[in-house]
Amino acid sequence: MSDADSCVFCQIVRGALPATKVYEDERTLAFMDIQPASHGHTLVISKAHAANLLELAEPDLLAAAATTQRIARAITKALAPDGLRIAQLNGAAAGQTVFHYHVHLIPAWEGQRVAIHGRERAKPQELAALAAQIQAALTS
Ligand code: 5GP
Ligand code: ZN
Repeated sequence: MSDADSCVFCQIVRGALPATKVYEDERTLAFMDIQPASHGHTLVISKAHAANLLELAEPDLLAAAATTQRIARAITKALAPDGLRIAQLNGAAAGQTVFHYHVHLIPAWEGQRVAIHGRERAKPQELAALAAQIQAALTS
């Protein structure tokens, strides 16, 4: 079995596992984090499997950067956070838990401590509502 066969995010790309999708194009996919660190926590991933930044091909990195900015603007428009934390972890020692390149977009509000990892799974209907709000901001 290759890394990509067992990889959770590759399964989402293939449609073998469900995800609350926000956006996709040829090289990238954005979906809601299942265990959000804050309201609106979204992940941007490369569709191609690469464990982390060090292994990612440059065209996929550039595409992911463009999608990250696009989603960052949509989150800002849709949810009006006071700030937006963008994080990307490389290696277990850095806190990485899913070894497929992804960028965290974590909305932040004044007075609330913002982590990178959440503690509880979100309700599917809450994630769907957030994804719809962010999607609407992408197209408006
Ligand atoms: P990492 O620590 O690797 O940077 O972050 C992995 C992120 O992926 C975590 O925030 C975690 O909640 C999220 N995650 C893990 N498995 C799934 C999944 O099956 N679906 C979704 N939507 N998010 C996931
Ligand atoms: Zn993968």
